[in-house]
Amino acid sequence: RPDFDPHDPLGVDDELSTEQLAVRDSVRALCRDQVLPHVADWFERGELPRARELARELGRLGVLGMHLDGYGCAGMSAVDYGVVCEELEACDSGLRSLVSVQGSLAMFAIHRWGSEEQKRHWLPRMAAGEAIGCFGLTEPDHGSDPSSMRTSARRDGSDWVLNGRKMWITNGTIADVAVVWARTEEGVRGFVVPTDTPGFTAPEIAHKLSLRASVTSELVLDDVRLPADAVLPEAHGLRGPLSCLNEARYGIVWGANGAGRSCLEAALEYSTTREQFGKPLAGHQLTQSKLADMAVRVHNGRLLALHLGRRKDAGTLLPQQVSFGKLDNVRGALDVARTARTLLGANGISLEYPVMRHMTNLESVLTYEGTSEMHTLTIGAAMTGVDAFRG
Ligand code: FAD
Repeated sequence: RPDFDPHDPLGVDDELSTEQLAVRDSVRALCRDQVLPHVADWFERGELPRARELARELGRLGVLGMHLDGYGCAGMSAVDYGVVCEELEACDSGLRSLVSVQGSLAMFAIHRWGSEEQKRHWLPRMAAGEAIGCFGLTEPDHGSDPSSMRTSARRDGSDWVLNGRKMWITNGTIADVAVVWARTEEGVRGFVVPTDTPGFTAPEIAHKLSLRASVTSELVLDDVRLPADAVLPEAHGLRGPLSCLNEARYGIVWGANGAGRSCLEAALEYSTTREQFGKPLAGHQLTQSKLADMAVRVHNGRLLALHLGRRKDAGTLLPQQVSFGKLDNVRGALDVARTARTLLGANGISLEYPVMRHMTNLESVLTYEGTSEMHTLTIGAAMTGVDAFRG
């Protein structure tokens, strides 16, 4: 019988294939060599200085749009993608956000709803990390309720003319292409907008206290004129953007656990090496209680992620189940981060340790891709048959 492994107490790794463990190890190595030595500094400065270089590295590893088929994408499984998200977010939620937005929001939108020309033009470059994408749905006045969006697209001859503003858009300032959702006479439509189109600007949002090693931007669309073929031909109504969000949320189910795992590991290491009252912190019962609770949270979360990933690969995963996973695993990771912070005492507030960086990052993760309240209401509506969103 194998020994109890404090880093994998439920033996979840035994459920992963050799290939999945190899992908995980290659992403872990990239994080260890190229991101972890710098990420606290980037976070402190509020920058992601090597975003393009990083995107190309991630492209070389094949993780951008890795769960999509064809057009230079790796065509891997949902579980493969989840394992990668967990590893990226164990490093920093900003890095996982870069990959999620690229693959699950921008690339997925084009792959699922785009024309053959749009797919051929953008997807191979995006998979290689040569082109960066962003996804503009949220507006300054409309977040949880995108059906009230104000950004508009009107026909002018065969062209489309877009006006409006999007807010809190990951990758916006560094993007080569923006998938922008706008109100039209025929309902909500999606547009593929090259970011060098006149009238398009993407100023970066400053003063964030969370996801500081991630680019977050406003998108300003001021009479942005696009050709007729810029519209995503297959996406009509909110079904288009919501399908993309469902993809990205699935990655968060895994990713949030990665952040929680990193906090647990930091707390375990710290509590076995620091002594108070003549023995290691780990020797005090209250510490053991915290460590056990954190381990239960993180590793139950991994099991849940694996279960949902297998359902996704089998084609049986429901959006409500994704809500379930996102709600539980992000809340769990945040609890773990807060508990780990207490275990590190004063050192817990320092960027010398990853814990508070993860903790503040997870505040954004709790809010984006559907707030915890929206996912609670989604589960409540599915359980009761009563929609409590409105009225
Ligand atoms: P609101 O919708 O104004 O909600 C405020 C509060 O009210 C929340 O607690 C919410 O749950 C609650 N609430 C709202 N309606 C109800 C209701 N019916 N019942 C009960 N409670 C309710 N968006 C993009 O489009 N693309 C991106 O790339 C992107 N990246 C982001 C990156 C970061 C760092 C952050 C912080 C956000 C990002 N977002 C992005 C935006 C994100 O998706 C929105 O912030 C989110 O959907 C919530 O919208 P809001 O902030 O406008 O909050």
